[in-house]
Amino acid sequence: PNKTVCDVLHERAGEFGSQPALTFYDKMITYAELAAAVNRFASSLQARGVQKGDRVAIMLPNCPQYVIAYYGILQAGAIVTQVNPMLVERELAYLLKDSGAKMIVIYEPLYPRLAAVRGETAVEQAVTVSLGAPPSVALAEGDVTFDEFLAAGSGAVRPVPIEPAHDIAVLQYTGGTTGRSKGAMLTHRNIFANVLQCAEFFKGTFEFGKERYLTVIPLFHVFAMTSGMNLAIYQGAENILLPRFELKEVLETIRDKQPTVFPGVPTMYVAITNTPGVEQYGISSIKTCNSGSAPMPLELMRDFEAKTGAVVLEGYGLSEASPVTHCNPPFAARKPGTVGIGMPLTEYKVVDVATGTQELPPGEVGELIIRGPQVMKGYWNMPEETAAALRDGWLYTGDLASIDEEGYVTIVDRKKDLIIAGGYNIYPREIEEVLYEHPAVREAAAVGVPDPYRGETVKAIIVLKDGMQANEEEILAHCRKNLAAYKVPRIVEFRAELPKTNVGKILRRALREEASRTQ
Ligand code: ATP
Repeated sequence: PNKTVCDVLHERAGEFGSQPALTFYDKMITYAELAAAVNRFASSLQARGVQKGDRVAIMLPNCPQYVIAYYGILQAGAIVTQVNPMLVERELAYLLKDSGAKMIVIYEPLYPRLAAVRGETAVEQAVTVSLGAPPSVALAEGDVTFDEFLAAGSGAVRPVPIEPAHDIAVLQYTGGTTGRSKGAMLTHRNIFANVLQCAEFFKGTFEFGKERYLTVIPLFHVFAMTSGMNLAIYQGAENILLPRFELKEVLETIRDKQPTVFPGVPTMYVAITNTPGVEQYGISSIKTCNSGSAPMPLELMRDFEAKTGAVVLEGYGLSEASPVTHCNPPFAARKPGTVGIGMPLTEYKVVDVATGTQELPPGEVGELIIRGPQVMKGYWNMPEETAAALRDGWLYTGDLASIDEEGYVTIVDRKKDLIIAGGYNIYPREIEEVLYEHPAVREAAAVGVPDPYRGETVKAIIVLKDGMQANEEEILAHCRKNLAAYKVPRIVEFRAELPKTNVGKILRRALREEASRTQ
């Protein structure tokens, strides 16, 4: 359809006007109020001279202003540029220069970071959000607070003709888990298509105007953008936003507000599962705990479900596909350990890594490639990377996977994380799954480190559960029992925590680089 997610928001404001759209601590915003604020924001952008196709960055934690800015930017025909609030000056400068953003909506405490690099960028105006705290930094001339910016808008938005299949809605910078961050160009159609695909997939599970989302995964990340924001608005749901993952606060919010949908990442499920007395928070009232972004270790899924009584549906996606392409279905068998089947209108196959074209039969491991209406237009300013990622309309995911006879996909690992030791291919995830089975292991990562004889060798980095003990010999004995000799880690390191991205993905790249430096 030729609609955009903005059109949907205004439709919902018509149907569910007086119902809560967003809840942020003690503040509630109805659908009618949200739609009106979006209009004000869009008209204020237009009054500032923002044109169709201009990039406007958002660098905020989850809060109502995020949602208002996101929809306001789209409504004005501009392009949302998503910025991770954790970025340091150098990374922020790169992203602002790369996107050419002309404006930024920024969390006030981050304003000094912007000020430090602003001279290198094209940013003309910053709009600051202080989240309850009184404004405390002196703003440069022309910069304004979010409230001032809203007040400057009349609410009458000049209509901007949008061609959903061509016009870019969002520059979604990839997490940089494996290398330099790239701006995936997602069109209005990509984004709305993914919302409709998810809605169709979960048809029957959710009721319009009745659901409550708990969104603590960060909205700048593509998983939350679709599964935690756009889908919630499509369903006319109430969205309870939290700005950061504070375990106690998340559990108490679940207990007090009884959300029905909780999109999370595996590291959040680790923290919840290992909380003493987790049963008392009524987690079983959540209809679906979606897990995505990173692999959910099987042992963790079993443990979480046994302790909470809730059901996890693991899915898979990537920035380049808006993001959802696969999920375990609510309407057919769930297969733990797989990421389920394709979304509606999503084609997928596994091809030989060397040729990139020869399709492999069920069960064989190759690169997963995907085609569908949610697949990006390309990478911003990166024609070579675009040509490598998009071939004949197929998105090359960079993930190694296999597909079973029924179409369920198992993600084996990222191509770039494959360890080659003594000529053998070793998938770190297989080792991690075994490590998680050890009763004392809370989190684990396996990486390849340089080795003079074998090229690479396996190193395991482990975080133990609170109050639990295990030494290297015990871990190795457990690995020897469960893994062929060539896969058994040669080095085991214990740590208090593992490096993670802001979304909570374990950063194997950082661990690998550290290990190589100290070798
Ligand atoms: P970059 O592409 O810059 O390295 P990134 O991969 O973290 O960053 P995202 O688009 O956030 O960028 O993540 C997509 C990747 O996350 C997928 O390609 C896949 O490797 C991984 N992933 C997502 N869901 C799952 C899952 N359920 N199981 C295993 N891996 C997953």
